[in-house]
Amino acid sequence: MAKKIVVIPGDGIGKEITDSAVEVLKKAAEKYSLELEYEYKDAGGTAYDKFGTPLPEDTLEACKAADGVLFGAVGGDKWDNVEPSLRPEKAILGLRKGLGLYANLRPVKVADSLTEYSPLKPELVKGVDLVIVRELVGGIYFGDKCESEEFNGTERAWDLENYSIPEVERIAKLAFETARLRRGKVTSVDKANVLATSRLWRRTVAEVAKDYDDVELNNLYVDNTAMQLAVRPTQFDVIVTGNLFGDILSDEAAVIGGSIGMMPSASIGECTSLYEPIHGSAPDIAGKGIANPIGTILSAAMLLRYSLQEEAAAKAIEDAVDAALAEGWRTADLWHEGFKKANTEDMTRAVLAHI
Ligand code: ATP
Ligand code: MG
Repeated sequence: MAKKIVVIPGDGIGKEITDSAVEVLKKAAEKYSLELEYEYKDAGGTAYDKFGTPLPEDTLEACKAADGVLFGAVGGDKWDNVEPSLRPEKAILGLRKGLGLYANLRPVKVADSLTEYSPLKPELVKGVDLVIVRELVGGIYFGDKCESEEFNGTERAWDLENYSIPEVERIAKLAFETARLRRGKVTSVDKANVLATSRLWRRTVAEVAKDYDDVELNNLYVDNTAMQLAVRPTQFDVIVTGNLFGDILSDEAAVIGGSIGMMPSASIGECTSLYEPIHGSAPDIAGKGIANPIGTILSAAMLLRYSLQEEAAAKAIEDAVDAALAEGWRTADLWHEGFKKANTEDMTRAVLAHI
């Protein structure tokens, strides 16, 4: 039976980059004899303009019934004056909640031909291939909060962090499973020297590790991890951490790759998982046909790998991206003198040629 992919182009460059990724998916599907069906749905500002809501019920229902969701980007200054509860960004929050997206996976891999784009020295980033597994629905972001209260004659605010054992077990299992598909190494990141939630986290991850003899587990404090990412990023395979630490470390790790336009992500769900580039809708370049489509193309490869278990097709896409880059194709965000200037379409064609 055909597998169904819901495509949500969204706003800004969303349409350009998802068009490109779908072309690549179609080529890979042809080569590997996969039966894929695509269903297009609205979300974000585009949906607000058409239906008065950033996440129509029909979009969410289609996502729930699909095998995977490919998401472009939402947002843009056009909707700055829209009431906060109806802003484009609410679409992604609604999808996270509606699909139960409890984990965010962000791989950071630096192609040999791109080491010079990293803010770190090329010899430090050569061979970097890691993935951050961030818990997405718990921790301090969703604990009780107080915006303001009177305290000892002054004002204070607070945010409560809590994690339950099942919440940690679920994300830890995902990290170990991910490591099994890779180099078999998990680094669990916490602040167990000061935080009670981190001590429960560490204890629970160690318990889960007993079911994964083939995977090596290390624990690292978050401050040290932040430093290690800058001094020796090649030491990492899978990093698993809570919501707040994961948010910060994901952005730090993403810069190692050089351009925001290159980076994919997966949000793993209780029913359907969602795949999107880490960048936003880039309104400044929307409609010009110059956006880098690689982050979205690599997100489509992750969809094949994690939602459809089509490892060979996923790898073929990733290898085709590496080959296009090695040939010298560079979109504007990556361009250096002496390389081949590519717009979105050129880069897409270069990738297609290698599948
Ligand atoms: P959001 O709030 O949705 O994350 P943002 O304001 O953080 O959005 P982005 O939309 O990610 O920002 O864009 C940041 C900068 O990176 C912009 O200058 C944009 O043009 C550039 N950029 C983002 N994505 C791409 C891409 N795929 N190709 C080229 N440039 C990009
Ligand atoms: Mg942003």
